[in-house]
Amino acid sequence: MTERNGRRRFLHLAASLFFTVVALLIIVGGGGWWVLSHPQSPVPSHWNPLRDLTVRAPVTPITTYQLQRALGDEAQCRAALSAAGVTFAPMDDLVVDPNCGIAGRGLLSRLVTARVAAVETSCTTTLRLAMWEHHVVQPAARDVLGTDVRALHHLGSYNCRRMRTAQGQDSGWSSHATADAIDIISLDLEDGRKLTLLSDWAVPGPQAEFLRRINQGACDWFRVVLGPDYNRLHADHFHLQGPGWGFCR
Ligand SMILES: [Zn+2]
Repeated sequence: MTERNGRRRFLHLAASLFFTVVALLIIVGGGGWWVLSHPQSPVPSHWNPLRDLTVRAPVTPITTYQLQRALGDEAQCRAALSAAGVTFAPMDDLVVDPNCGIAGRGLLSRLVTARVAAVETSCTTTLRLAMWEHHVVQPAARDVLGTDVRALHHLGSYNCRRMRTAQGQDSGWSSHATADAIDIISLDLEDGRKLTLLSDWAVPGPQAEFLRRINQGACDWFRVVLGPDYNRLHADHFHLQGPGWGFCR
C-alpha cells in the first residue's frame, strides 16, 4: 500500500510540475507576444517577426523570415519596395501559357540607390535584387572601391525559353520564363568607372575583388547564383535566380 501511495504522490508531483511549466510558458509566451504585437512595441521592427520587412533596415536573424513572408505576399512585396524608394511601376500579370508568364509583374527602373534600365520583371525578383543592392553591392563598393554604384546593367529578366547548359539546350524551363531570374552584366560607379564582368572579373585587383564579393553576397538573397566561375555561358554575367535549392558558383 505504501508503495502505491508513493507512486501516486510521485505522479501528483510530476503532474503539478508539468502544469506549472505549461502555465509559465503561456504567461511568458503570451507576454512576449503582447510585447511584439503592441503598436508601440519597444522591439525594433527588424528584430520583430510580427513586423513586415523593411528593405533598408539592418539585417538580423529575423530578416530572412520577414523576406520570405514578403516574397509570398504580393501586396507586402510591393509595399516594401515602395517604402525603400524602389521604382517598380505596377503592371497586369503576364499570362502566356503554363510555362511562361509573370506573376506580380512590374517595370523596374530604380533600386534603392542605383538606376537600372527599365526592365519588366516580378516583384519577388525585384525585392531580392533590392536586398542584394542595399546590403551587398553598395557596402562592397564603398569598402573595396571607395565609391557608390550609380547603375546596374542587365541582360533582361523575362524570357520564355528553356534552360541553356554548356552541353546545349536542356528540357526544363528556365527561371527566366517566369521572370524569377535576372542577369547582371556590368555596373557604373559614381566616380565614373565602368565595370564589366567580361573585362574585370579575371584581372587581379580591387575591381575583381569587388565583383567576387558581390557574386558571393548574392547567395544571401538569391537561391541560385551563377557567375563567371561556373561555366563559359556565364563568363559575362551573374545569373541571379530566386527559387531553387541553393546553388552558388
Ligand atoms: Zn540568367
